[in-house]
Amino acid sequence: AYEINCEPLKDLIRTVPDFPKPGILFYDITTLLKDPAGFAQLIDAFAAHYIGKGIDLVLGTEARGFIFAPAIAYRLNAGFVPVRKPKKLPAETAKVSYDLEYGSDSLEIHLDAVKPGQRVLLVDDLLATGGTMQATVQLVEKLGGKVEGIAFAIELDFLKGRNKLEGYDVYSLLHYN
Ligand code: AMP
Repeated sequence: AYEINCEPLKDLIRTVPDFPKPGILFYDITTLLKDPAGFAQLIDAFAAHYIGKGIDLVLGTEARGFIFAPAIAYRLNAGFVPVRKPKKLPAETAKVSYDLEYGSDSLEIHLDAVKPGQRVLLVDDLLATGGTMQATVQLVEKLGGKVEGIAFAIELDFLKGRNKLEGYDVYSLLHYN
């Protein structure tokens, strides 16, 4: 499969030091999203990588996964599934809790969102420690879905979040060290 060179897209991502707290360098994708050619290239790059792989569903995690996953799903002729923060989804849900630096958080998915055996692509904007995506994988597998791939726009290599996702096909368009 041919791959699109995404490196130039780094120029469109704004970095904000000390947000949301001291010591964190925040990768702000809003400056990329508002650029028509940049946004199109990003979605094209995801689509090129996954087209023809039989993806049934593209799943995005609240909030920034909601930006990319539906656009990719449209390109793959797949459905879109939202994974949400607690108490947002109206019907019956499965829930998973995961640890944060301080305390914990949880995520929910509708019980009927994924049927056993469906091939699911999981998407988020950025891979940091991997905790969020690890929890998302657990949700999909609880429902019997098959995690066909895990995709990020940005991967912070030095945090080694990929280690939490061992055994899965993890693909990131842009890497930072
Ligand atoms: P993690 O669970 O540590 O992999 O964190 C991933 C989630 O936190 C993603 O949904 C990101 O949107 C967000 N995130 C973590 N670190 C950063 C960062 N340095 N810049 C922007 N977003 C971040």
